[in-house]
Amino acid sequence: MKQHDAMYIDGSWRPAEGRGTIEVVNPADGQVIATVPAGSAEDVDAAVRAARAALPGWAATPPQERAARLAALRDQLVARADEIAATVTAELGAPLAFSKAVHAGAPIAVCGSYAELAGTYAFEEKIGNSTVLHEPVGVVGAITPWNYPLHQVVAKVAPALAAGCTVVLKPAEDTPLVAQLFAECVDAAGIPAGVFNLVTGLGPVAGQALAAHDGIDLVSFTGSTAVGRKIGALAGAAVKRVALELGGKSANVILPSADLAKAVAVGVANVMANSGQTCSAWTRMLVHRDRYDEAVELAAAAAAKYVPGEKIGPLVNATQQARVRGYIERGVAEGARLVAGGPEEPLAAGCYVRPTVFADVTPEMTIAQEEIFGPVLSILAYEDEDDAARIANGTVYGLAGAVWAGDEAEAVAFARRLETGQVDINGGRFNPLAPFGGYKQSGVGRELGRHGLTEYLQTKSLQF
Ligand code: NAD
Repeated sequence: MKQHDAMYIDGSWRPAEGRGTIEVVNPADGQVIATVPAGSAEDVDAAVRAARAALPGWAATPPQERAARLAALRDQLVARADEIAATVTAELGAPLAFSKAVHAGAPIAVCGSYAELAGTYAFEEKIGNSTVLHEPVGVVGAITPWNYPLHQVVAKVAPALAAGCTVVLKPAEDTPLVAQLFAECVDAAGIPAGVFNLVTGLGPVAGQALAAHDGIDLVSFTGSTAVGRKIGALAGAAVKRVALELGGKSANVILPSADLAKAVAVGVANVMANSGQTCSAWTRMLVHRDRYDEAVELAAAAAAKYVPGEKIGPLVNATQQARVRGYIERGVAEGARLVAGGPEEPLAAGCYVRPTVFADVTPEMTIAQEEIFGPVLSILAYEDEDDAARIANGTVYGLAGAVWAGDEAEAVAFARRLETGQVDINGGRFNPLAPFGGYKQSGVGRELGRHGLTEYLQTKSLQF
């Protein structure tokens, strides 16, 4: 696997100041596939200084030219899509077909959308006797997780560059190789030196240094609620902007009039995708009491088809594997009924977890409240729509969700009652232009499309 023993700072690969290294492990077989440098606070400082120095020039670059660079970046991602997919499969463990379709495909779509938006967005508007300028926020510190490692990078870097901001990226420890590949694409796309900088490293060291750096104007973070809280507190103390995309415990509400077989099949597939490591996964299935047994049977049969090592990959690392197995044990201990999977390891090697379905889950159980981040579905029964809404809204999260009904208007009416940032109606497709982000503790701010672009802008009003 290709790797750089350096940081991408100010347009070139330079040796790290920090001496530490991070081993990158393939979770499917436990093999070390690469080693990357663990950046120090000094590396972060060098990257932030490069980004600050590049800011005035990039901010003043006409939006059409920024759009052209982003289009060139998208073309690079297209040209290297197979390499991107292979890299994500090696460091995350996702099956290759999923890596090609989603881990390589989504970033291409998102980068393309910002190439277009940069060229068409109204960076100036008239309001009465004022001209309002939409200016870049400044230097962005982006801290990303491993679960959709390139998508989460592009969902921050592309809108930031479209807005005229410059960026320092600290990617997740588990998936630095695709971030290095992305830096090569940025370089090949002719994006000027210092506009994008990459520092690989540990969260509590490089991530913390980036979040706390005075030279950062906005911190954009995706990851756990625990770290998000720390970053939000740091940003608050320094009065700097912050965007947080955190966890979820999304509800898949199947109303009595729905096509049950379809709703359950799509619902199970949604949870099992990416081995359950998706912040927006519909990990709670809510079914009316009258159709509950039928739904449980369908879900158990659907989950059994996800054969570990074939249709479903491992979890990202041994820590996550142990964490998820712990949640499955907790579910059993709290009285939920296992109808598929269980805590046992399905394979002798690799960080695999059995695709698991729990029935007889009640709303207060740990497995119905906390984000598990693994292939684990909880099925809950409800009595009527008020009960379903209460259960669906009864967690600290509110990131995504789904509603199924025989009639679209009925599903939409119910979706309006949900405290959540996205709802898919009768299996609606992912839209890379729709705002994505959380209500409640699922986060602050929105990513993707026009709403994602405005996160990186601030306004200045000129009065005439
Ligand atoms: P994490 O929040 O620890 O890591 C996310 C990113 O934050 C990584 O780049 C990490 O290096 C960095 N980081 C860690 N500590 C930091 C600190 N003190 N200051 C600045 N940056 C820091 O997530 P994790 O440990 O990899 O995963 C744990 C759990 O988080 C998962 O089980 C899951 O529940 C949740 N998670 C959610 C998402 C999501 O998309 N919402 C993504 C990944 C993980």
